[in-house]
Amino acid sequence: MDPKNAARKRIAVIPGDGIGKEVIPQAVKAIQATGAAVELTDFDWGADRYLRDQTTVPPDGFATLARDFNAILVGAFGDPRVKTNIHAKEILLGMRFKMDLYANVRPVRLLDAALCPLKGVEPKDVDFVVLRENTEGAYTDAGGVFKQGTADEIATQEDINTRKGVERIIRYAFEYCRMHTKLDGSPRGKVLMSDKSNAMTHAGGLWQRVFKEVSAEYPAITAQHMYVDALCMQMVRDPRQFDVIVTNNMFGDIITDLAAGLQGGLGMAVSGNIHPGKTSMFEPVHGSAPPIAGKNEANPFGAILTAAMMLRHLEFTQEADRIEAAVLEAVRQKKTTRDIGGSVGTREAGEWIVGRLSS
Ligand code: ATP
Repeated sequence: MDPKNAARKRIAVIPGDGIGKEVIPQAVKAIQATGAAVELTDFDWGADRYLRDQTTVPPDGFATLARDFNAILVGAFGDPRVKTNIHAKEILLGMRFKMDLYANVRPVRLLDAALCPLKGVEPKDVDFVVLRENTEGAYTDAGGVFKQGTADEIATQEDINTRKGVERIIRYAFEYCRMHTKLDGSPRGKVLMSDKSNAMTHAGGLWQRVFKEVSAEYPAITAQHMYVDALCMQMVRDPRQFDVIVTNNMFGDIITDLAAGLQGGLGMAVSGNIHPGKTSMFEPVHGSAPPIAGKNEANPFGAILTAAMMLRHLEFTQEADRIEAAVLEAVRQKKTTRDIGGSVGTREAGEWIVGRLSS
């Protein structure tokens, strides 16, 4: 039988490095406390394994994930002992590129006004999603260095934009807008494409043309455009105006850290790496955070809310709702780590959520 059709959905769990190894166990406990019909399998991919036997991704690793699992829950990669960061690149970018997970979905939601650094901003004011192209752009590492180490050194970093890649992420944005509601239940209705086509005319021109074409197929959805520098300012001045934002790989990476700031910081932000119909991967937006790793200080809520996003993707809607409600209550009662104003540790915050889900 196809393992993906088993009674229990199969989830691969890859905690990775640094705080990934602390926050993912809390997310796993939360999933288990909901009683969702899932089977979780641990993978030890990360710096420890790489330093032990030089393996980044075992042979057939990505094929196994795609064939045998319904979803993948990932922590973070990056370890000061691996200066080249080769394992992080091969595992994380490998998963995105080789499994063709082209839509990086980053919902930006404010759970509680106290978490937002802006004055007078309520949860209803921050409820948008950033769809970041995830398989091309400036992150394919195409390019090279010539005459390295000399006064004449030349470095190029190519920004790769294919018609197919641009079109499918823009179409994904319109479909996302059509199929999702806001937190208050009202329909979504606007897709904003952000680029820097005034300065980067070749790639930007392709994005502009494709956006115009695809948006014409969705007359019920308002199509907007904003240069990415203006977008950064507007996200801080008036986040209420945003609904669905679609952009390229690098701009998406940058603006979602800014967006995380609106939600209470990197410890609260969630993401999914999705290719409709294929095994998709879910990870908190934060990295491995070496300065706080191993200290029981990391905020586990980004990982726990990421688990909820994954459960929702797997159609465990009630379980996802319950996790989100528990995290909201923890934030209200300040059962949180220090980064968002509480005083408990990673494990204690996770245990509070489990207690809430089990009661
Ligand atoms: P990457 O490039 O791998 O995404 P990064 O350089 O953007 O990583 P992070 O590892 O995400 O950086 O973290 C930067 C800083 O943000 C950390 O050193 C830490 O202070 C804070 N931070 C990140 N995640 C968390 C978290 N879950 N809880 C508390 N603080 C966090």
